[in-house]
Amino acid sequence: MKLKANDRCWCGSGGKYKRCHGDQRALDLAPVELGTVSPPRPVPDTIARPDYVTNGVVGTSRAPQIHDADSLARHRHACAVAAEVLIRTGEHVAVGVTTDELDAIAHDIYVELGAYPSDLHYKGYTKSICTSVNGVICHGIPDDRPLADGDIVNIDVTAYIDGMHGDTSATFHAGTPVPAIAGLVDTTREATLRGIAAIRPFDRLQLIAEAIEPFAASRGYSVIREYGGHGIGATFHADPHVSHHIDRFDDVIVVPGMTFTIEPMLTSGRPTFHQAADGWTEHADDNRPSAQFEHTVLVTDSGAEILTVTASGESAAGTLDSLA
Ligand SMILES: [Zn+2]
Repeated sequence: MKLKANDRCWCGSGGKYKRCHGDQRALDLAPVELGTVSPPRPVPDTIARPDYVTNGVVGTSRAPQIHDADSLARHRHACAVAAEVLIRTGEHVAVGVTTDELDAIAHDIYVELGAYPSDLHYKGYTKSICTSVNGVICHGIPDDRPLADGDIVNIDVTAYIDGMHGDTSATFHAGTPVPAIAGLVDTTREATLRGIAAIRPFDRLQLIAEAIEPFAASRGYSVIREYGGHGIGATFHADPHVSHHIDRFDDVIVVPGMTFTIEPMLTSGRPTFHQAADGWTEHADDNRPSAQFEHTVLVTDSGAEILTVTASGESAAGTLDSLA
């Protein structure tokens, strides 16, 4: 059941949702205007590119990515690189910083770590990360708009190295968040981890959606239906499509060795959106803020392992331990 305006808030304050974390006045933001996008940043020739960059063609194979020991070791490394790019870029989120500056920072870290930014020249995209601010659901393009106090920005990183893509994202606060927006971000982080914790080998992929959607609804948030997670490994976007909303027609079964992303987008408003003229940026129709977290995960013999953590186990999006 979705939490309603006059229900008690989920946070335990005892107040009505509409006067607490569901405060619509705090969530009524101005639309994020598109700014000027700088030219693509160069990648040294010594760094290997994915096929779609060298030949301009995105392959049509969406075969699920199931690893052997060698490919898993390489995928694990690509995911650790992505985690490091995200952590270090996220440290620079602050009031007055532009998303293009975040792109430049991320780009230099990919190159330092010997990785290619998978987004760069993917289907004509010209930046090294996606940056989705406030009411942008996903695929925001870094530009010259400075972050304002109270903004949230999702940074989405995909690193390509040793023939593998690792994909992770997190939502960061610029300045001081208002409680209504902090609640959305915290709930989305927890929803992502609940989805990951629900994975069972030889069981239904839908266990993920069944863990995420009712939890989001209990806090008054909606899940975006049109975008989901995806298989990932040697291919950037593969099967299965990972739905974060309950879909009774989804009969996919997951098996050990499979890798895919979990990346729910939760919105504090209506879950409808439209694409900007740039062909990428997805704006919420009502401009209400949305948040997203993403991990690449491996299905194991007992559940799932988050691969998008650094060698020392750090992650910008938190770890399963935070569920304890
Ligand atoms: Zn509350």
